[in-house]
Amino acid sequence: MTQVVVVTGAASGIGAAVARHFAGLGARVVVADIDEAGGAAVAEEVGGLFVRCDTTGEQDNQALIDTAVQTYGGLDLVHLNAGIGDGGGFGEDDYDTRRRHRVLAVNLHGVMFGLHAALPALAAHGGGSLLVTSSMAGLGAAPFDPVYAATKYGVIGLVRSLAPAWQEKGVRINALCPGFVRTPILSPEAVAYLLGEGYALAEPAEIAASAAGIAAGEETGQAYVLQAGRAPEPVAFP
Ligand code: NAD
Repeated sequence: MTQVVVVTGAASGIGAAVARHFAGLGARVVVADIDEAGGAAVAEEVGGLFVRCDTTGEQDNQALIDTAVQTYGGLDLVHLNAGIGDGGGFGEDDYDTRRRHRVLAVNLHGVMFGLHAALPALAAHGGGSLLVTSSMAGLGAAPFDPVYAATKYGVIGLVRSLAPAWQEKGVRINALCPGFVRTPILSPEAVAYLLGEGYALAEPAEIAASAAGIAAGEETGQAYVLQAGRAPEPVAFP
């Protein structure tokens, strides 16, 4: 059983559901987020530890992993899940360099810093599992948010590139590619539009259950499509 779990972006949405899922299985859960009030509330609910972590900072990522190891003696699963949307468009009206850099900082640099801090700690504890939340936008296209899509493609590249070397050290690395999930990252207008267009929205708890199954499996270097009401589907890369 997975004993010690670190989840970033765990104050809300998918990350909070993952924290609840593993706490329900008896794991000790480290809830990491930039949102102190939300993160502390989830940590209290799951009987876990809240660590304030801005994943865009290399030191915050290292401090998060060090705190988890010092508190619980090691790690079994790290889920790099924190992410944001709204990277700006490519038109004259919505081209916004600050938004663009922020999405790159959280979704891509944040995952790189998290991987750099977490992988050696997992290996030092005898191996374990690392999950990164990508998106179906990282496999297809997101015309509404192209920079978001680029970051989600990017983290799949990291997962697939790092997995072989870390497999030798007992660490499995996989990417989750959810479709639309009912969380605050989707505005009420976006939810209404998607439902009107006939899209099925997954619940965060479904994604958490799939994440737990993938974390406990044997595979590494995979990206899994996670859609409402469906079992995880590994992507067949060329
Ligand atoms: P959410 O907004 O509910 O949760 C995101 C969490 O990340 C929030 O708690 C937020 O405070 C935290 N966060 C943001 N910036 C941070 C930072 N710099 N450091 C630490 N924490 C930070 O959204 P969600 O849908 O649960 O998103 C979780 C992940 O799932 C994201 O990576 C997102 O891109 C991905 N995803 C979501 C959907 C969807 O439809 N909801 C689909 C595919 C992928």
